[in-house]
Amino acid sequence: AALSKVKDVDIKGGWKVDEPVPYAALTKTFSLIEATTKRLEKTALLTSFLLLVIQRSSKKDSKALLQAVYLCINRLSPDYIGIELGIGESLLIKAISESTGRSLATIKADLKKEGDLGLVAMNSKNSQKTLFKPKPLTVAFVFSNLLDIALSSGHSSQAKKVSIITKLLAACQNFEAKYLIRSLEGKLRIGNAERSVLVALAHAAVLAEHEKAGKKWSTEKLGAKLEEGANNMKAVYSELPSYEKVIPALLEYGINDLREHCKLTPGVPLKPMLAKPTKAIGEVLDRFEGKRFTCEYKYDGERAQVRSTSCLMEPVAVFSRNSEDMSKKYPDLVEQLPKCIKDSTKSFVLDAEAVAFDRSTSKLMPFQELSKRKRKDVKVEDIQIRVCLFAFDLLYLNGEPLLHKTLHERRKLLLDHFTVVPGEFDFAKSSDGETVDEIQAFLEESVKDGCEGLMVKMLETDASFYEPSRRSVNWLKLKKDYLAGVGDSLDLVVVGGYYGKGKRTNVYGAFLLACYDDSAEEYQTICKIGTGFSEEVLQSHYEVLKPLERASVRGDVKVGGAKPDVWFEPQVVWEVLTADLSLSPIYMAANGLIDERGISLRFPRFIRIRDDKNADDATGPEQIAEMYERQALAAGGGKKKKGGD
Ligand code: ATP
Repeated sequence: AALSKVKDVDIKGGWKVDEPVPYAALTKTFSLIEATTKRLEKTALLTSFLLLVIQRSSKKDSKALLQAVYLCINRLSPDYIGIELGIGESLLIKAISESTGRSLATIKADLKKEGDLGLVAMNSKNSQKTLFKPKPLTVAFVFSNLLDIALSSGHSSQAKKVSIITKLLAACQNFEAKYLIRSLEGKLRIGNAERSVLVALAHAAVLAEHEKAGKKWSTEKLGAKLEEGANNMKAVYSELPSYEKVIPALLEYGINDLREHCKLTPGVPLKPMLAKPTKAIGEVLDRFEGKRFTCEYKYDGERAQVRSTSCLMEPVAVFSRNSEDMSKKYPDLVEQLPKCIKDSTKSFVLDAEAVAFDRSTSKLMPFQELSKRKRKDVKVEDIQIRVCLFAFDLLYLNGEPLLHKTLHERRKLLLDHFTVVPGEFDFAKSSDGETVDEIQAFLEESVKDGCEGLMVKMLETDASFYEPSRRSVNWLKLKKDYLAGVGDSLDLVVVGGYYGKGKRTNVYGAFLLACYDDSAEEYQTICKIGTGFSEEVLQSHYEVLKPLERASVRGDVKVGGAKPDVWFEPQVVWEVLTADLSLSPIYMAANGLIDERGISLRFPRFIRIRDDKNADDATGPEQIAEMYERQALAAGGGKKKKGGD
């Protein structure tokens, strides 16, 4: 229905069949997507655009479709290659000024009023009189220039970036400047999450096949094919999160056979499976009653996906929770691991936790110790804090993906193909005990040994298959903190700062935090946090956050009544614990889910910086609403509190 509703929208403009994809068609689509709040309509609009691109692509030439999809998700490469946009505001203001002849002060004043530099750029461009109509921009041209910008480094790179942006802006017409600037800032803000882009891509591929087949399918058949296509695409992408692999295969083999041709390979790190929090052992038993499950130590370190595409030929590589290559951060792991790989192991992908380990006492050390290690260009001989890798899953072995084997089978393969090297490599300690007393005893043992608690996992049947990128009910986390009644921690983005008082006037003394709503693509303020920081910690936060200061709040931050002294680019993620959640007249988190008002944290406490998480990975409003409801239930009768600053 949504597709037929957008059928007559003219995205194409004057775009002819044999011409490259015009940037105007893409940005027109963006503007239509931004203008509707209906999710299905957003997806349908993107589908219509991608269908046009697919119809103009061939089996051998997937570049145009790849670049178009990358611009839709505002990326230039797969995550694990890590080429990133995110150009600072002052540089963009400079380029807008150079390209339009408007002064920096006027642009800044407009920005303060509009809160969206994209809009300011578009208005500045459109009010400019031009003598000659510029040559139309193409997706290919914009993409390659964005890539040049992202890749340029060194001392003259700022000037080079400004000059490329100025050149691009000079050629912008209609909506182009708005989305170009937003792309450069790192956020499109059209309310189209990557999930919907995957669905739109699948739908476009199905519609292309439908047209090829002479549009003879019944509405029911088409509907079923669209659904099947979207499911295929989501399954494929979660195993192989690389458009560089999936898009050529889509054009070559079609959506129906995509699964056959795109499987987990050690060359592309996959997004890890995540767990749901549980508050009590009773809840674990309710969920897993009558099924076989296992409890493992929940180690307090950093998630590490370790792979080797060929154990004899290639050193192992280590990837983070976010698919960033951490091999340079953990050269010691890269050196240690070959010793624990048995001869029968030719290629593999392990899921594991890297944990700080004291070799003199053979004891685990907390995450705080691990976080003292340098992040980049670490040299093995300089390492003070040693790391032991605790493997808990095997996802790929000797050319075969194992995701659809049971955990019981995967674990057996893991034990058979790797060897323990004390202090360097071990298997996650586990117990298959099933009574409350057994779980309680194992939980206490895990805490005594320096772990955060337990991970409880389904062991058999298809419920124990590995589910990449899913927060699954088949993995439950049972942290000691939950049992003390505090609940799970939240990962929140620092969006604003308040100047310190007294001794603290040279640093920020308090911070404004926000959660992230990935369907609306917006940050929602949740609390001010300002107690419990030492002078030293405040100083280091200042050094990280000062360069992220902005002249005004970014348009995708839903502020409510908060009034910080400065605003930041939303980039830094902190893990925070709270004593209590309450409805708030000031903050906006989860507004509309429980109440018109938002939810706020009372007495928030800073735990640690989460530099393994992007701002988009911050806790979402649904989870916050869920925490609020649980708390209301626990308090008996859903009593709602007021206040909240
Ligand atoms: P999430 O990953 O669920 O968003 P998070 O990153 O804050 O949350 P936790 O809530 O602490 O992490 O729980 C999951 C994490 O626990 C995993 O990502 C992994 O790094 C770690 N972990 C430690 N031991 C295990 C284990 N035995 N099995 C799975 N994960 C483990």
